[in-house]
Amino acid sequence: MSRRIVAEYGVNSPTATFSTRSNYYASTKSGIASKRVGNHSNDIVTYFHDEEVGNFHYGERHPMKPHRLTLTNHLVISYNLHKKMEVFQPRKATEEEIMSFHAADYIDFLKRVTPENMNSFSKVFSRYNVGDDCPVFDGMFEFCKIYSGASIDAARKLTNGSTDIAVNWSGGLHHAKRVEASGFCYVNDIVLGIFELLRRFPRVLYVDIDIHHGDGVQEAFYTTDRVMTVSFHKYNGDFFPQTGDIDEIGSGLGKYYSLNVPLKDGIDDDSYIYLFKSVMEAVINSFRPSAIVLQCGADSLGCDRLGCFNLSIKAHGECVRFIKDFKLPLLVLGGGGYTIRNVARCWAYETSILVDQEVSNDLPYNEYIDYFAPDYKLHPHLSGKLENMNTRAYIQNLRIKILDHLRYLNGAPSVQMQEIPPDIQGFLEMNDEEEAELLADSSAGKEQKEKERGRRPDNEWYENDQDNDADMDIEG
Ligand SMILES: [Zn+2]
Repeated sequence: MSRRIVAEYGVNSPTATFSTRSNYYASTKSGIASKRVGNHSNDIVTYFHDEEVGNFHYGERHPMKPHRLTLTNHLVISYNLHKKMEVFQPRKATEEEIMSFHAADYIDFLKRVTPENMNSFSKVFSRYNVGDDCPVFDGMFEFCKIYSGASIDAARKLTNGSTDIAVNWSGGLHHAKRVEASGFCYVNDIVLGIFELLRRFPRVLYVDIDIHHGDGVQEAFYTTDRVMTVSFHKYNGDFFPQTGDIDEIGSGLGKYYSLNVPLKDGIDDDSYIYLFKSVMEAVINSFRPSAIVLQCGADSLGCDRLGCFNLSIKAHGECVRFIKDFKLPLLVLGGGGYTIRNVARCWAYETSILVDQEVSNDLPYNEYIDYFAPDYKLHPHLSGKLENMNTRAYIQNLRIKILDHLRYLNGAPSVQMQEIPPDIQGFLEMNDEEEAELLADSSAGKEQKEKERGRRPDNEWYENDQDNDADMDIEG
């Protein structure tokens, strides 16, 4: 039993606007979410990528490699998918924004600790859970500000109605808690993004397809009915983070608004897709979210260095397509994923789904093409390498229990009855001036500057890219 992801594998160690919002029920006239019909390639898709984010290193033998973000971005560009999106260099999150969720002392620690001075902080390492899984590395807090700023900016593009889908592959760090790091995550950008969405949207649905339980997000919203969290993950009581059993359902006002789908090793495409679609369709029709956040952790793919599922990239992407087709404002985030060539393939493929662009199975040439040898395909054979321990009876039983659980939701809660979670109260109390200021130097301001400068040239990301990390993964 441990609080480490790696250990168990021994791998190298303002509220008034809510109901008046014009697209309050964007999905259908009746207000019930339903599947999008026909070809809707008119969605505005906004993509956030920071050119530096892939250059951070957790440490040589650490499985979390931000370089996967550089690989992903190069595939996105070489498939020309950036031409179908609004592309932004995100702003870094401010400390104030980060502290809208995280404790000030914890953030002060993240800000001050460095590999050089860490010995003088060793007394608080256990309090903040910093060490093996979550090491102190060069630029750690900068890294956090970059991926969190992108999620906050992405959420703002959705709240101000200037995009339909916002993508930040560097985000999705779902394990971080208010006062501690966990599972390679220091700052919980998902919680920060959802706080932003709650300023406008009455109900936000969080969906997590990482192989690990989305514990940090569930915990943050465990007692509210404004955010429903749904996590599909491996669970056996021991697998990191050791939470996410089906009986974790939320409490107080949030009772029944946390949903967990505990799975066993080796789940295959058919079982996963069947369960995902039947559960998510029921959730969306019961909860009637006004926006969705989808965490696309790619460690649920077959052959992941830390994972133990059997999913293909097509199946993982099918979950993304299914959620997109509900045509609700959608924030798409990354997450886990430790066989980095497959993470990049997966998120590039999912980007193609979000922009409705079919892409060739032959990977286009790009400067990192060697990572994808020997097949150079978008869809390598990843499944079938582990026995599926989820029997048909297990899946059916799970589905029945979950659908039964959803009956308690009794339709969507009334907006008027909503209690604003205490955590975000302070954030919402910002006066108009402060808000205007914040917006001006954030996405809106940035956007204006981008417009003034014109769109970034296609090849800009190729320049100044000094990251030659050829640290290839170990096949999981
Ligand atoms: Zn994970």
